Amino acid sequence: MIDSHIHADTRPFEDFELMAVSGIEGALTCAHDPLEMTSFDVVMAHFRRLLTVDPERAARNGLKLHIALGIHPRAIPHDPERVIEKLPDLLRNPSVVAVGEVGLESGSEIEMDVFKVQLKVADELGYPVIVHTPRRRKAEITSQIMDLIDGTMDESMVVIEHVNRDVLPELVETECMLGLTVQPEKLTPEGAVEILREYGTDRFVLNSDMSSAPSDPLSVPRTVQRMKMEGFSRRDIRQVSDGNIRDLLKISQI
Ligand SMILES: [Zn+2]
Repeated sequence: MIDSHIHADTRPFEDFELMAVSGIEGALTCAHDPLEMTSFDVVMAHFRRLLTVDPERAARNGLKLHIALGIHPRAIPHDPERVIEKLPDLLRNPSVVAVGEVGLESGSEIEMDVFKVQLKVADELGYPVIVHTPRRRKAEITSQIMDLIDGTMDESMVVIEHVNRDVLPELVETECMLGLTVQPEKLTPEGAVEILREYGTDRFVLNSDMSSAPSDPLSVPRTVQRMKMEGFSRRDIRQVSDGNIRDLLKISQI
């Protein structure tokens, strides 16, 4: 199993052990807004931690961390161009497998500019992109996100995160991979399983998005267990909990 979206820097050492003993082999840890990301230096300090401290803490428990770097829409510094200039260099690190999480929160002009330029970098260098959608005005902002992706980036290289029933009808018409975030205040394992029953497993990945907000490190295994109990095939379970995200991020089997 792979947890396709976490924020390892906000979690205690013990969570990684819990995940590993529950059968999770790896996770994608994404850049976000753990501090007020006021300047280039703060963003770089955050990235350095994701690249060094957290993979080491996870590895000590047998959990492999893969990394996504980018400017989160709630973490735009006053000098985003300096971060973007450095991004191609940072992406060359072999542990970095995606640009993310990027996207829109309020849909402001600056958010749109920073998102679009990061999509271009990812597209030029051939990296997948992990795209955040907000809790508030989700349908409206998700449409705005899709407009920006359109013509900038190949949809099949994008994961649209934190999808819910409000946005699924629009998103299933696209080529994007869709992230089901199973989290105490977002979606229960049962709710995720209902969506998978309705829409199939080809286009979905499961994750906990565990952070300093209410989170469950066992979101993915709990959803897998629920799928087993409801008679989903091994193939379908493997797709959403492992195969789809490995294929997209080009993470090889252990
Ligand atoms: Zn996140």
